[in-house]
Amino acid sequence: MDRFNYKNGELHIEQLPALKIIEEVGTACYVYSKNTFLDHLHKIQNAYAQLDTTVCYSIKACSNINILKFLSDSGSGFDIVSGGELFRAVKAGADMKKIVYAGVGKTDEEIKQALDAGIEYFNIESEQELENLIRLSSEKGCSAKAALRVNPDVDPKTHAYITTGKKESKFGVDIERAEKVFDTYSGNPSVKLRAIHIHLGSGGNTVDPYVEAIEKILGLIDTLRSKGYEIEALDIGGGYGADYVTGYGPSAKQYAEAIVPLLKDKNLKLILEPGKSIAANAGILLSEVQYVKQGGSKKFAIVDAAMNDMIRPSLYDAFHFIWPVKTDASFVPKHRNENMQMEGLEKYDVVGPICEGSDFLAKERLLPPLKRGDVIGLFTAGAYGFTMASNYNSRPMLPEVLVDGDDYTIIRKRQTYDDLISLEQ
Ligand SMILES: *Cc1c(COP(=O)(O)O)cnc(C)c1O
Repeated sequence: MDRFNYKNGELHIEQLPALKIIEEVGTACYVYSKNTFLDHLHKIQNAYAQLDTTVCYSIKACSNINILKFLSDSGSGFDIVSGGELFRAVKAGADMKKIVYAGVGKTDEEIKQALDAGIEYFNIESEQELENLIRLSSEKGCSAKAALRVNPDVDPKTHAYITTGKKESKFGVDIERAEKVFDTYSGNPSVKLRAIHIHLGSGGNTVDPYVEAIEKILGLIDTLRSKGYEIEALDIGGGYGADYVTGYGPSAKQYAEAIVPLLKDKNLKLILEPGKSIAANAGILLSEVQYVKQGGSKKFAIVDAAMNDMIRPSLYDAFHFIWPVKTDASFVPKHRNENMQMEGLEKYDVVGPICEGSDFLAKERLLPPLKRGDVIGLFTAGAYGFTMASNYNSRPMLPEVLVDGDDYTIIRKRQTYDDLISLEQ
């Protein structure tokens, strides 16, 4: 599933010992495995090869331009949600014919930039936005293609904050209203409404919600086609599971085995927008234990990474496997799980130094005994880790390191204190 493995009790990222990186880069830092990114991308591309498929990696999961470059070189398109992400995609040399742009609040400025760039589909989230796109593209005298984001009202059974395809969510238009949108706008000459987009949200770990949603949407597409509207593509969004726990997320192959038969012979181009299923298991957050503290009723391991660096545990109650990067033979983990069954583990809350009770990376976690100076890895940190970081508590943002084989490159420098105030002068 990834290339983060223990050899002789030492965590290696691809062929490189994690501690070797720390010697130069220091802690805390994000480290990515290039070949894990590529493996995941290729597995998805191959799983859907029977259909006319474009994989559009969701930039917001992990946005470093160096990563976008090698994904683009391997045939990936991109799912963008802002002008900033468009800028990154352009700078990475992305193929604009493989860019889809979602987001409920696209500004005029952002829409104009995307029109100039010549992206493939605007994924339209409301009638007003579509009107606005029509206005801006006719003002420019250019035409654009759009996909209507339809809310299929399917529950991926994940955390409420990352559920996006239910009736009460702010995304897309209700499936009942979709037909009316086509009645009104499908003949428009400046914006060609030619596709349907759905995105169920992140975190699901079963294939079923995709099958349910695609079946509903195929019904809608039949209706639209019977009225003479041309539908060329279906974008089924992202949200595919990643292995936060060993074996948790279905594989790309398992998703495809359920999805491909539904779409065969439907004369639809398929677009996928995977984010975390490509990035999550391709990254790790390395951090050093500063202090071990016996509290009133708990033991704390206080580390030099915090909620500003990795907010998923605080924000979503997300589980991330944590383990020391160097261990005795008896503590080498054979899988990654919430309850590791080993003799001699101790229970810790792993916390950062930020002045908030919500600043934790793990609670009541059984770990090998930790001491000051130990380096721990927080696994499956490649998606929504660095990209959700902030400077809260005036903590400089962490560096990002990319490992390729037994070599590594610093692909983002550690912020300095001068960086913290540079825009304030
Ligand atoms: C965030 C997002 C994705 C990616 O979600 P993952 O859970 O990371 O796969 C795809 N499409 C859209 C529209 C998104 O907002």
